[in-house]
Amino acid sequence: MNARLEQQQSELANLLKRQDELEVCSRIDPLTGLANRGWLEEQLSEHFTHCREEGRNLSVAFIDLDHFKMVNDQYGHLVGDVILENFGKLLRELVRDSDLAGRFGGEEFMIIMPNEDAHSAHQLVKQILQKLAEQPIAYVENQPIHITVSIGIACLHDGGFADSRELMNAADQTMYFVKHSGRCGIAIYGQ
Ligand code: GH3
Ligand code: MG
Ligand code: MG
Repeated sequence: MNARLEQQQSELANLLKRQDELEVCSRIDPLTGLANRGWLEEQLSEHFTHCREEGRNLSVAFIDLDHFKMVNDQYGHLVGDVILENFGKLLRELVRDSDLAGRFGGEEFMIIMPNEDAHSAHQLVKQILQKLAEQPIAYVENQPIHITVSIGIACLHDGGFADSRELMNAADQTMYFVKHSGRCGIAIYGQ
């Protein structure tokens, strides 16, 4: 009886460990290792609720790579993938422990910055543009490739957002404003 019980306990422990591993995997974008869209949306919704209840600010940055279709057309999808991967690394190096960076889908990324206002969110994302200007995102046959991005920021305290989706849409719309203003830049919702 004891031996069987021990075996069952060990099997249960293995299953729980495997379940934890699968749960972590289900939150990760495989190409970049960043949070995936589902996890970003879930986390944003939680932060939105808590920050609003406690009167804390919350910033969201929506980032879209500029002319990425042209990059793919020129260098091929594999190079495109390497660029996305390296951009993921760049984001991971820049964000703080309290932030969450993720890949929303395709060539679109998001950073959730709890407790941060528009000014500090701007300070952080400005470094992305600086890094991209300073260093190539990848090399093809020893030739450096540079990319630019368009970034929209929206902050909880800067609009009457009913839910996290509205906050996210505001960041997305602001990103499109940058696209229409010539790309490679940052804009803040409401400013
Ligand atoms: P814009 O500056 O207006 O954003 O132009 P764009 O070309 O970046 O935007 P568009 O939405 O027209 O194209 C996005 C491209 O991103 C098209 C698609 O092939 C590419 N893309 C999306 N996901 C991936 C991916 O996982 N890997 C690669 N290599 N390319 C991807
Ligand atoms: Mg896009
Ligand atoms: Mg794009």
